Amino acid sequence: MICVSIGRGRHREMIAEHKYLAEQGVGLIELRVDWIMRPVNLQRLFAERPCPAIFTCRRENDGGKWTKPESERQILLRSAIASGVDYIDLEEDIAASIPRYGKTKRIISYHNFRETPANLEEIHRRMATLDADIVKLATMAHSQHDNLRMMRLVKSAKIPTVGLCMGEVGMPSRVLCLKFGSPFSFAAFHADRSLAPGQLSFKDMLELYRAHKINADTEVYGVVADPVAHSMSPRIHNTGFGQLGLNKVYVPFRVGREELPTFLANCREFGVKGLSVTIPHKEEALRLLSRTDEASEHIGAVNTIDLSGPTAIGANTDCDAAMSAILRVFGRDGVDKTAATTADNSADNSADKSANKAAATESAPLAHVRALILGAGGAARAVVYGLRKAGAACVIANRTPERAAELARRFACETASWEDRGRERYDLVVNCTPIGMHPKVDETPLEARSFGPRTVVFDTIYNPEQTLLVKHAREAGCQVITGVDMFVAQAARQFEIFTGQTPPVQAMRDQVMRSISAARS
Ligand code: NAP
Repeated sequence: MICVSIGRGRHREMIAEHKYLAEQGVGLIELRVDWIMRPVNLQRLFAERPCPAIFTCRRENDGGKWTKPESERQILLRSAIASGVDYIDLEEDIAASIPRYGKTKRIISYHNFRETPANLEEIHRRMATLDADIVKLATMAHSQHDNLRMMRLVKSAKIPTVGLCMGEVGMPSRVLCLKFGSPFSFAAFHADRSLAPGQLSFKDMLELYRAHKINADTEVYGVVADPVAHSMSPRIHNTGFGQLGLNKVYVPFRVGREELPTFLANCREFGVKGLSVTIPHKEEALRLLSRTDEASEHIGAVNTIDLSGPTAIGANTDCDAAMSAILRVFGRDGVDKTAATTADNSADNSADKSANKAAATESAPLAHVRALILGAGGAARAVVYGLRKAGAACVIANRTPERAAELARRFACETASWEDRGRERYDLVVNCTPIGMHPKVDETPLEARSFGPRTVVFDTIYNPEQTLLVKHAREAGCQVITGVDMFVAQAARQFEIFTGQTPPVQAMRDQVMRSISAARS
């Protein structure tokens, strides 16, 4: 169950939001009366409540807004119990002095905005002795290990325990506590109005994480990154899980470099069955795994970990994703389909096509293709590996020439200097640099005059989808592959690895497009 916390300055606003949330199917509301600027009118707030509510009046030093005398607050708490509120939130230090009365259930709460203390179990034991119906612990997480300790506590607690960690690192616990037995988890009315660090909006909790459906059997997936807040992977994979009605949830795990080995060793305890891996962990994950697929070995990076069996298996879906898009354009027989679709109908064209067919074979469908790769980082490695395997000749241009030379040596390619990258025309140009990415959308890695109508232009950037490079390429009549095509394809392949099922690609793509435009509005 989700409990939505409402903090508003006026009774009228609080009552309206309570009514709205009940209409949305929310089963429990926390009324944070410390936010109300006038004397609290219990009758107005609770007499005709549309769904059960927790009465909470939080002091300033516990993260609330109550600054009036403590004696006044305790009178208010007693009055709320006497008036029959459903739940009352009592902090550990005052719980013993406020007795149980009537049907009001007692939530004994502990908040720590600095850390998740080492003696969490001891704190929980103390709180459980205070005539608690529910124990609530909210602590700041600095590592995934903090989340794990909290989940262990929730799971083993004899008394119903809402245990969650705050902050970006703590976010997975807000969802996963429901798997481990928390009677409910907290959410905000709106993402901009969270009342605690890392609190999600109730819409995200319900629609994205489907928190109301999480139970002990829910399988867990996630993205491991640092930072992770911007990642679209939770949106794309949860959309896929939801579409297929799978009892799976996908959460963002913010993991620092130094924590990666312990996280990978312990993540199964969260119920994790599969992970996406991204910056800065792709190379290190490869080193840490004993089993990896051929593509990740060659590329030197892992972007997927399958934890469904006893041994974790690393894979790289970036290469397949890029190559499936490239081969779609060039055709499995190696012929550039753009030749037939663009305005270039010169006499040379049909001769070129015959030559292409002759050069391309099943094992080397791109044997006739000469490609320019801009950049020499992780994305470039995945693309170059795939292109070379398909028989294409590659020329690498990178800002730092040493990195271009290293990549060229590894995959038997040529190099071009960064300054001369636009001098020659190629069959395929792939941008693997962040030039043109949001917010610097008026930049492009290659001048428009550097490609003609028969060049296939592939920009791996997905935010925005229509980069300046893509716009110039379309204006020149080129066939275009976008970063969204690649991003959706790599996630779809991960989805297959995670679920063994065909991914709902269109729904996943629509979600990516919505997320990109939402991120910019
Ligand atoms: P990376 O490993 O950090 O490599 C970045 C590359 O871009 C390096 O070669 C770097 O050159 C070059 N570069 C960075 N800033 C530059 C600038 N201002 N001018 C010239 N060159 C510059 O990053 P990555 O993982 O390969 O990602 C690169 C891009 O690929 C990202 O922007 C991302 O949008 C895209 N990508 C897309 C997908 C997808 O699914 N669509 C997947 C992965 C990546 P130096 O060597 O000189 O530093």
